[in-house]
Formats: sequence, C-alpha cells, structure tokens
Amino acid sequence: MSDRVQELLKNLNRRNFEALYCKTRDEVHAAIMDRIPESATVGFSGSQTLEQLEIVEMLQSRGNNVLDQYDPKLSSDESLRIRRLSIQADCYLCSANAVSMQGELVFLSAYGHRTAGIAAGKRVIVICGSNKIVETREAAIKRAREHAAPLNVKRLHWDAPCAKDGTCRQDVCFSPDYIRMCCQMLILESEVDPERLTVIIAGEDLGL
Ligand code: SF4
Repeated sequence: MSDRVQELLKNLNRRNFEALYCKTRDEVHAAIMDRIPESATVGFSGSQTLEQLEIVEMLQSRGNNVLDQYDPKLSSDESLRIRRLSIQADCYLCSANAVSMQGELVFLSAYGHRTAGIAAGKRVIVICGSNKIVETREAAIKRAREHAAPLNVKRLHWDAPCAKDGTCRQDVCFSPDYIRMCCQMLILESEVDPERLTVIIAGEDLGL
C-alpha cells in the first residue's frame, strides 16, 4: 500500500468511517461478503464500479435478497418502489464519485434514492476505485460534477447540456429545457456511529 493510500485511510478513520484497502478484486469481494450476512437484504445504487466488480451477481448467487431496481421485468412504478425499499435495506452498496485525501466523500444523485440510501441507510458500504482519489474537497466536487456526471449523462443518453461536449453548464441545466442528472450532491464528512459506513479503497481504477 502506498503512503498516499495509508494517509487516506487514516483520514477516513479519523472521520469515524471504517476504511480498508483491497488490492485485488478478490479482496474486495471478500471484504463485502464478510460485512454482509447471508440473511441480509441488500440495496444498491446504479454504479459502473459495482457492475465491473459483479457484486450484485455475487450476492444473488450466495442467496442474498438483492433489491434490484434494474430487473428488466419491472415496470417503471415497480422499479421506483424497489428504489424506495432499497433505502431501508439491511445494507446499501454504492460507489463514490470522488474522495478527497482529507477523507470527504462526494456523491451525486438524480432522484435522491442514492443520496438517501447513503446518508441514512442502516449499513453502508462505499467502494472507491483509485481513480476517484483527489487532493481536496474542491477537487472532489469538481471531479463529480465536471468529470463523472457528464460521462454518465452521455452513457445513459440524458438530455442535459453536458451531453453535447462534456462541459457542465449547471447555470442553465434546469427543466423544462433539460433533464438534469446531478440534482443532489451529498458530501459525507463524518459518522456518529463508527459501524455504519465502510469505505473500501480498491487497488485499481473503477467506474467513471
Ligand atoms: S448540472 Fe447538468 S450539465 Fe452539469 S453535469 Fe449535471 S447534468 Fe450535466
């Protein structure tokens, strides 16, 4: 583990987050399996990181009840119901848009299920690829808004200004002219309960 990652883990711990470094995908999988009982219901937010790691499939094959809002069999109303239920699941999984070296975690959300699940879920596990680590809180916000969000807008074909050239124009990105993807921003600065939130720093780049 590099000195930089060691410093980041120390700063995350100082904020009452459990924090660990997992060099390989197998280590990430083991860390998640260790923290989620087989009997637990699991909610998750849409995440390229989770997809790349095939976490949902892993938990489903173990027998966890994973609340999958992306199940193609669901109607849009049923998907919305699952998103709301996920917030109250035993465990909520997600990735961060960015983490600062001081340990602040930044997340964007369109409808707010993601921010609600992270902010108020019973037990939350955040997976963060090495590419998401930046120096300052300002850089973390900038990464989320000016890097991750435009890429997600493009990937999911949302009608927002950044879809054209990847440039955020949040001053005009409002309905009815556009459909804004990053309507909510959550910054986690600390936890009261040291057992609520775990941050896994992965040893590879993951997600956008
Ligand atoms: S505020 Fe609008 S333009 Fe800016 S990144 Fe978000 S969706 Fe794109």
